Amino acid sequence: MTVYKRAGEILREQRGATVVILAAAMTVMLGMTALVADVGVNYLRQVKIAVAADAAALAGGTQLGKGREAVTQAALEIAEKNGLAPEQVMIEVDEDQTGLTVRAVAATKLIFGKLFKLQDGQMKQAARVVRARPVAFYNVFPLGVEESVSLDYSKQVNLFGKELLGSGNWGALSFKDADGKYMTGASVFREFLKYGYSGVVEIGDVVLCKGGVNMGPISDGIQHRINEAAKTHPCSLGGCPSDCPRVLILPIYNETAVKDEVVVVDFAAFWVASISGSGAKTEVWGHFIRPHVRAAASVEGESKYGLTSIRLIR
Ligand SMILES: [Zn+2]
Repeated sequence: MTVYKRAGEILREQRGATVVILAAAMTVMLGMTALVADVGVNYLRQVKIAVAADAAALAGGTQLGKGREAVTQAALEIAEKNGLAPEQVMIEVDEDQTGLTVRAVAATKLIFGKLFKLQDGQMKQAARVVRARPVAFYNVFPLGVEESVSLDYSKQVNLFGKELLGSGNWGALSFKDADGKYMTGASVFREFLKYGYSGVVEIGDVVLCKGGVNMGPISDGIQHRINEAAKTHPCSLGGCPSDCPRVLILPIYNETAVKDEVVVVDFAAFWVASISGSGAKTEVWGHFIRPHVRAAASVEGESKYGLTSIRLIR
């Protein structure tokens, strides 16, 4: 019988050991689960404040040059819309207003970690936005101006007056399609006059440029833009968003060795005030402006034509 008794004891001892091991394993597993849950929750919070800081910096960036107050206000507003309280956000505007930094803080939340006596901490995110020079655009107006033409920013001008496009130093631009072929033809040109070229035009691009353009389609295109803009907002000089159809982004070009091919060297912006006359006598009045724009690409530096965009850097 002693044999059986011994066997029973061994069995009981082993059961006891199993319970101990199970308890220890569960503690470890619970701890790991808690850690994973806390890390997950805080990772999401970290991403959220990073996104909020970026959005706030970009919003502030659009106001650079309009005063510290305007920059701060715009940044704070967007930070708040992204779930940050004003006391969580710190905004530093550069002295010369060429950039701003948004710092956001939030408390790390430990839900399970507390069980293991871990302390709550702080998480921080910073986003920096600087003024930049646009080097590429969507929706450019398909008329280019030669670099040698001087643009008068001080007064209202007729875009087709003799000092400007009327001087002959300009042309209708044709851009390349995906296959590298120039998109020419009256209907394509009319589309671009109304809506701009849908692709990207970048400094350094070589495009086809031909003078002797019929004013009829240009007049129609501009009129269409004025009508379209009126559907979304009341237009005014300095009061239009940069994507208003009345803001024309004009490529500035230089000739190349190839006839009718030019190279884009920069961009200028013209705000259309009014259109009058018809046919060859069409007058397009407006102002050259230095707007803040949404560019397809930008680099550090200043545009000679006063166009600014912003870049998010960390
Ligand atoms: Zn407008």
